[in-house]
Amino acid sequence: MRLAGFLAPAGVYAVVTLLHLALPARAVDGYVVDPATGRPYRYRLNGLSVFAVTVALWALACWQGWLAWDFFWTTRWEGLAGACVLGLLFTLVIVLGAPRSGRGLLADLFLGRASNPQGLGGRIDAKMWLYLAGATMLGLNLYSFAMHHRLAFPADPSPCVALYTGLFTFFLCEYLFFERVHLYTYDFVAERVGFKLGWGCLVFYPYFYGIGLWSTADLPDPHAPHAMLAAAAVLFFAGWSLARGANMQKYLFKRDPAAKFLGRIAPEALSDGSNRLLVSGFWGAARHVNYLGEFLMAIGLTLALGHPDRLLPWLYPLYYVALLVPRQIDDDRRCSVKYGALWADYVKRVPYRIVPGVF
Ligand code: NDP
Repeated sequence: MRLAGFLAPAGVYAVVTLLHLALPARAVDGYVVDPATGRPYRYRLNGLSVFAVTVALWALACWQGWLAWDFFWTTRWEGLAGACVLGLLFTLVIVLGAPRSGRGLLADLFLGRASNPQGLGGRIDAKMWLYLAGATMLGLNLYSFAMHHRLAFPADPSPCVALYTGLFTFFLCEYLFFERVHLYTYDFVAERVGFKLGWGCLVFYPYFYGIGLWSTADLPDPHAPHAMLAAAAVLFFAGWSLARGANMQKYLFKRDPAAKFLGRIAPEALSDGSNRLLVSGFWGAARHVNYLGEFLMAIGLTLALGHPDRLLPWLYPLYYVALLVPRQIDDDRRCSVKYGALWADYVKRVPYRIVPGVF
């Protein structure tokens, strides 16, 4: 059992890889240009079907009695250890297999050397694979943790667990549905593939993002007031609207600067003749209002658990503050170098970083 739990993430990542290679995929051009060809990198995207088939295979295995429904719960520490080893191995292979950057070995190991490594003749992209593997493992962990709760409290299972798992399923599926939009984000523009991204996606994402359920699945129903659960769902979807809305508006603008967002809102942009920056809609409210959306979603998920008095679930929204505030500072620095005076004009026009009217 302990060894099986330790090896489980490797098994899941192997299934994800095989399905990713075997299932039909959309071939799309990304945003980042391959310096070797001068053309955008091309990607095979089939994340949502890989996720759905992996979850269906897991459910089938449990239903047939080959695997306990709460296997990933009972072996969660072994799974975490196995994922850590995989994250380290992945880092060593991907970093040491790439040409040196000149920044030193430790920096290379942590931040990575290659920006957009692809393999098997472009059939697999390291960054997209990492996000898909992490999302799928996180989904399986959440479903198994939720099943542990159901098995532990068959007479009085908490609706909070169902709400939290449902909201998180939405979070994962909508990311996979809009996988293509992810190609236009900081991860693709600014990050290289090393420990930060590799270990982050193979270990931190699947084993930390579910900390709320990890720390409460073996507690009885808290009988949280319905108003609190409704507020949690409203907060989550309000956050989602901000994050998804801003991402989609920018995605559309990058692909067609004249296109109307949602078919109605005409883009307003600042231009210096060669570059353009959006100053309307979400991008006129704050320079990273999408990060506010992520915070709200995280708070909504935490409240949905119905245990607002417990500390551990709050680590999830806190983590977003630690991730996204420095990221906003770094992204502004990068944009200020890239866009020069145009960025300074944008900052004057839209002074708020993340929270409109406040910060
Ligand atoms: P953004 O989507 O805000 O992208 C920043 C980039 O957008 C800039 O580098 C710049 O790139 C471009 N840009 C900035 N302002 C403008 C403007 N006014 N007009 C046009 N282009 C502009 O940030 P991220 O890539 O960091 O995040 C993407 C999404 O992913 C967000 O919703 C974020 O919250 C989410 N996220 C989710 C995480 C999670 O774990 N759930 C973790 C991290 C992020 P360019 O140089 O190309 O113009």
